Amino acid sequence: MHDNEVRMYCCGLTVYDYAHLGNIKIYINEDVLKRALMHAGYKVKHVMNITDVGHLTSDADTGEDKMEIGSKREGKSAWEISKYYTKHFLEDLKKVNVLMPDIMPKATETIPEQIELIKKIEKNGYTYRTEDGIYFDTSKLKDYGKLSRLKKEGLKAGARIGMGEKRNPTDFALWKLSPSDSKRQMEWDSPWGKGFPGWHIECSAMSMKYLGETFDIHCGGVDHIPVHHTNEIAQSEAATGKEPVRFWVHGEFLVVGKEKMAKSAGGFRTLQTLIDAGIDPLAYRYFCLTAHYRSQLMFDIGAVRSAQLGLSRMRKFVERLAEVRESATKKDVLKLMDRTKGEFRKFIEDDLNTPRALALISDFMREINAMMDRNALGREDAKRIYELMLDFDRVLGLKLGETSKEAVPEDVQKLILEREKLRKEKKFKESDSIRNKIKEIGWEVLDTPKGPKIKKI
Ligand code: AMP
Ligand code: ZN
Repeated sequence: MHDNEVRMYCCGLTVYDYAHLGNIKIYINEDVLKRALMHAGYKVKHVMNITDVGHLTSDADTGEDKMEIGSKREGKSAWEISKYYTKHFLEDLKKVNVLMPDIMPKATETIPEQIELIKKIEKNGYTYRTEDGIYFDTSKLKDYGKLSRLKKEGLKAGARIGMGEKRNPTDFALWKLSPSDSKRQMEWDSPWGKGFPGWHIECSAMSMKYLGETFDIHCGGVDHIPVHHTNEIAQSEAATGKEPVRFWVHGEFLVVGKEKMAKSAGGFRTLQTLIDAGIDPLAYRYFCLTAHYRSQLMFDIGAVRSAQLGLSRMRKFVERLAEVRESATKKDVLKLMDRTKGEFRKFIEDDLNTPRALALISDFMREINAMMDRNALGREDAKRIYELMLDFDRVLGLKLGETSKEAVPEDVQKLILEREKLRKEKKFKESDSIRNKIKEIGWEVLDTPKGPKIKKI
């Protein structure tokens, strides 16, 4: 919408717990989109919020505030919980080389803007009051639910139960009043009484404040399509009469077995679980790139270890290029480079097809490696290829230019991978003998309920 600038909003984490690997997948997907836009020459204004109030356990506006759950669980205030997990979340993002957003507003710091927005929606006649809050009347919008192509009739039939005073099953809270019998840790005065904002209004208010009433791209996970983002559209349109977002980009789930990875289900895996298992966080990033962002990605620690080997191969390739001293130059190398460069761009511009881009680079490396084996690659060409790899990395974000001093050496990684395969097949005798081999090299594998831990002896 604005010449060379793309304005992009991403729903941030609800900071009542550590980010799980599913959350991190989405932020990696979004980062690839941002990097691809930058690579194509756009300036990106990137806003990601921090959800630190109002995200309830149920999408039907009932249940507890997740921040209060975190607070009870740890015996700390909701504010302390938010501060701790926000810090941790940002550290996780850095570890997987996600470029930091330009602005990171907290929901609790944007309350006046949220109240103003609700006032506008109220003035335009879209709200009603119940005993516990101010609600949005979704029947007043002709095309409510267009983002997920919701069928209102079907919803009405099934969802009457637990509706309370809501007029329609899809209606949602803009402002929830604090309960009269207990005191909330996070609450604010408002024209409707003391309370707290609904989760959806937060994102509408924050995106509008920093990016305008209509902006280019809004991102999130697919779970946000039917409720959170559908309601963001409804609110913004009711307030401004304009469509808030030009393009919605949703990433698919990281799944474990048949279930999506979720915090509320317990036993979720974090980046730290991978680090403890001797895995480089950037190998997790590589693993995420091996699937298209709109395909589900199956979590499997063996597959993440294979991704780590893939990443090592790429890094070693780049290092090897820097060491080429031959003076030969061949025309066909330049042709191969040009073709690879063009195809890479084509794959990325085709809805961010990172798996095809990785496969392309892998073929390219094979050909160039074969040339280096024959001492047939000249120094000047090697330099160009080195630059090309770093150029690809502006989109992939794998830190290919950094030397490959892995925390856990490649031979140990390979043995661990082999051992995990054997354990899956219940070949424990063989897997134990591999564990001993690993020990001989100086590393110890511990199997814990949270997954394997790798330690230097
Ligand atoms: P939340 O902390 O629930 O607000 O979620 C933060 C982001 O993670 C949102 O964009 C969600 O859509 C996304 N998300 C949650 N669970 C998963 C999962 N298992 N796989 C991928 N993304 C997820
Ligand atoms: Zn949001």
